[in-house]
Amino acid sequence: MGGNRRRRLCQVCKSKGIRREAVVYMKEHRLALCKEHFTQWFEKRVSETVKEFQMFKKSEKILVAVSGGKDSQTLWYVLNKLGYNADGFFIHLGIGDYSDESMEKVKELGKKLGKEPFIVGLEEEVGAGIPLLQKLVGSTACSICGRLKRHHFNKVARRFGYKVVATGHNLDDESSSLLANLVNWNTKYLAKKYPVLPEENGFPRKVKPLVKLTEEQIKFYADLNGIPYTSRTCPMGDTANLHFYKEIMNTIENHSVGTKYRFYFFYLKKVFPLFNALKEELTEGTLRECKVCGEPSPSEVCFVCKLKMKLGNNSENAKS
Ligand SMILES: [Zn+2]
Ligand SMILES: [Zn+2]
Repeated sequence: MGGNRRRRLCQVCKSKGIRREAVVYMKEHRLALCKEHFTQWFEKRVSETVKEFQMFKKSEKILVAVSGGKDSQTLWYVLNKLGYNADGFFIHLGIGDYSDESMEKVKELGKKLGKEPFIVGLEEEVGAGIPLLQKLVGSTACSICGRLKRHHFNKVARRFGYKVVATGHNLDDESSSLLANLVNWNTKYLAKKYPVLPEENGFPRKVKPLVKLTEEQIKFYADLNGIPYTSRTCPMGDTANLHFYKEIMNTIENHSVGTKYRFYFFYLKKVFPLFNALKEELTEGTLRECKVCGEPSPSEVCFVCKLKMKLGNNSENAKS
């Protein structure tokens, strides 16, 4: 994409006998498009993905996990543009400026869409933000954050009647994490790696409508359409590993155009069913209801309730 000095004409316009300069050339699709036709192409691709994987219907309410970054913001925007009933949900992680700026971008997009986002603050809800929680728990910030996010998405989805939770994972995320998990033979993960996971054990359906679009295409769409987002990455996240595999994927893609897409979608079609058939054996036992909050948990008391107990229930007192 981009960076192509040769001037190209939009192929869709050209087919209608109009000469209009393209703003983008997508090598992997051999497609040059103007602003209007790129936007159309992008939206059609999302719409096709939703239908192909039977992610949701127009009649269903969708909760979009928004972080303020380009992917999730674009997802929230584009689903509404396509006529879906999608609401944003943001968790303020208590990571200083980064969380504040992200929240502002979410609110800004909410205004643009005429939709008030759900916002939960970890400091109010759990009693501390990620920096303090990390010291308390001692595991990586990303693993704590992931568990807290899942817990709150499930909770809000259930409480407000959303059967579907959508996330902004793109083709780069999915192909590079597939590669990383294959290299490490992480079968537990491979058994659940699919763009739509059905509702079960009290969890809402999980969908990833942007899996056919690359990071570059999403950023381009967001910029063309004036979608507000933050370019900052989480200062606590250990993303070195993730970037490493993304770079390898890009190296392979540059060597042989279209591999990124083939690698991931061939997996979904031919290999995933094999792993998924062994899901029961590969993934950890069944979930039960947390004794305290009722959310699904592998142990008697869930991770979040344990955290709250450790923090001395300060948040409970503050609320009443
Ligand atoms: Zn055009
Ligand atoms: Zn609990």
